[in-house]
Amino acid sequence: MKGGTKLDKIYLDNAATTKMSEAAIKEMTRCMNDYYGNPSSLYTVGQQAKEIIEKAREEIAGVINASPKEIYFTSGGSEADNQAIITAAAIGKRKGKMHIVTSAIEHHAVLHALRRLKNEGFEITELPVSKEGIVNKEDVKKAIRDDTCLVTVMYANNEIGTLQPVSEIGAICKEKGVLFHTDAVQAVGHVPIDVKAENIDMLSASAHKFHGPKGIGFLYVRKGIIVSNLIEGGAQERGKRAGTENVPAISAMAVALKEAEAGMKENAKKLTALRDYLIKGLSGIPHSALNGDAKKRLPSNVNFCFEGIEGESLLLLLDDKGICASSGSACTSGSLDPSHVLLAIGRVHDVAHGSLRLSLSEETTKEELDAAIKAVKETVEYLRGFSPVWRDLNAGKLQFIL
Ligand SMILES: *Cc1c(COP(=O)(O)O)cnc(C)c1O
Repeated sequence: MKGGTKLDKIYLDNAATTKMSEAAIKEMTRCMNDYYGNPSSLYTVGQQAKEIIEKAREEIAGVINASPKEIYFTSGGSEADNQAIITAAAIGKRKGKMHIVTSAIEHHAVLHALRRLKNEGFEITELPVSKEGIVNKEDVKKAIRDDTCLVTVMYANNEIGTLQPVSEIGAICKEKGVLFHTDAVQAVGHVPIDVKAENIDMLSASAHKFHGPKGIGFLYVRKGIIVSNLIEGGAQERGKRAGTENVPAISAMAVALKEAEAGMKENAKKLTALRDYLIKGLSGIPHSALNGDAKKRLPSNVNFCFEGIEGESLLLLLDDKGICASSGSACTSGSLDPSHVLLAIGRVHDVAHGSLRLSLSEETTKEELDAAIKAVKETVEYLRGFSPVWRDLNAGKLQFIL
């Protein structure tokens, strides 16, 4: 089903990005060849390109039960998050409402956009999560004030995969008359989403997380909300996002999303079984623990902490064995701070450092997972063999936590 070059690798980092599907690659190529016109041009070649993007808009809207006019194409999830937050902030500011509610486990695209607003005088309430990594809807209710202009809570976490009570939060926000944005980048194409039934006002998505191309995504904004634009210029995207549209990427995103929707039920069932098999296999490693709720998580996500080791070393040694994994999120690696998500679920610094995320795709096989379990077991043991922390733990100088 999926295209691209078959690498001799076990790719278990689908939360970082996915391989493009064959159909999406084909669609992208078709558009590059046949629909090279500028969608803003009035002659037929331009209007044909325009038709391609409007068809894509319609298809994408259909998947989340939105109307096409509520879909704005962006360069990806980060841009969509920023645009949603800037939009809510501008509306809030006009009404003198400068308080925003979010969670401690958001993606940096949300957290850093909010950090900027804080410098501009907004007040941000960052809600804690349970040790299972889930926001409490009662906390959301209590945090909303008369001057709250936005609640932004992600649909599914990118590191530990936990699914948040989105429809409950949506209902609370609707009742209180507060805008609700959800970063659904990890969820779109993987779990069913209905923006109307779930009372979602704004939603961010990114194609490369569902086997579409990189550098393209969309923002859903409920009708009636005045969108602020991040990029000034031409009248594209109803004047809200200037710049000539990326026709091939937009169309390929729609193809990938339709494909993901068609296979969603079957894939979720298959992946859940594989995920639980992997969790069971890794649980056999002593002094380890699963991060995030065992069931209320994406069918594709497994995240563990192993005491006495460094996640980064584990990653590099797994790479030598042909296994692509992640320690925390790709954006965090390269920094020495442990993941804010793992700290938020109560992991202490040392334990949080020894984390590993394995994220599966529809292409993942049981054989690959068997190889991964074996490799992780061996590598953790090997690293513990010369870890001073592990030695101190075993000598009783430090106390085991896991
Ligand atoms: C990947 C991701 C993003 C960023 O999306 P890009 O398209 O890479 O900008 C934002 N939020 C979450 C939850 C993600 O997983």
